[in-house]
Amino acid sequence: MIEIMHRPRKRLFLTLILISLCIATVSTYGIWLVSLPGLANISAYLPMILGVVLATVIFAIACGVIGIILAILGFRTLGIFQGLAWSAINLLFPMATSIGKVFDVDKERVERSFIEVSNHLIMQKRITVQPDKLLIMTPHCLQQETCPYKITRDVSNCHRCGKCQIGELSNLAEKYGVHLAVVTGGTLARKVIKTIRPHAVLAIACERDLTSGIQDVFPLPVIGVLNERPFGPCCNTRVKLDKVEEAIQSFLPEEILRKIKDGVL
Ligand code: SF4
Repeated sequence: MIEIMHRPRKRLFLTLILISLCIATVSTYGIWLVSLPGLANISAYLPMILGVVLATVIFAIACGVIGIILAILGFRTLGIFQGLAWSAINLLFPMATSIGKVFDVDKERVERSFIEVSNHLIMQKRITVQPDKLLIMTPHCLQQETCPYKITRDVSNCHRCGKCQIGELSNLAEKYGVHLAVVTGGTLARKVIKTIRPHAVLAIACERDLTSGIQDVFPLPVIGVLNERPFGPCCNTRVKLDKVEEAIQSFLPEEILRKIKDGVL
């Protein structure tokens, strides 16, 4: 399993999401209590109907959160809870980051923790896809700032000069026969996904873009690999290529990997 999924980091997101669930439950109960007199004036059944609806929503979110926790603990139950788990994440994530802020936890740390949880959930499902159904998507900032070649339109325009890692990523994509796309933002990323129609994505990006991207493209499985920013954000960023290769291998069937290793493919 790749290093970015180190166990202690996941606890942060799980703790925040559990606190969020508690707050959501208490707030929902409070809203129901406050609205009781008004609803009872309209109809004697309304308080009960609203109560059942709200209780069902909270129960579904709780099932999702429990599904995530069980999956992290190693239980293979996510199949049943998968939809609920992602709905719970989408609903509770903004609250989780706000709670993190209250406790002076940096937003990026929460996002990193979320990415690790998400990667773990995807890896645990052991999804395998054919190479032509796997897309590596990387941000434009990985390209050397002074490079004159337009690689966002076609990554094969890269001359593999070695001044940035786009050349090495192209080599990796070629070795495994997977797609590689360099994108400038969410709009182009969505367009590439629509064109290539991958069954899985390996996304390289910063915490913020990975977090929103993973949630945007659900239910498409995404493994996120964080980029490194030695020159600050969005400028000549880098990525650990061994982690990218490990993530590619985790998506490809054993048989394909064997053939690549034996030089048959
Ligand atoms: S490796 Fe490719 S993208 Fe990077 S600087 Fe060289 S030609 Fe440009």
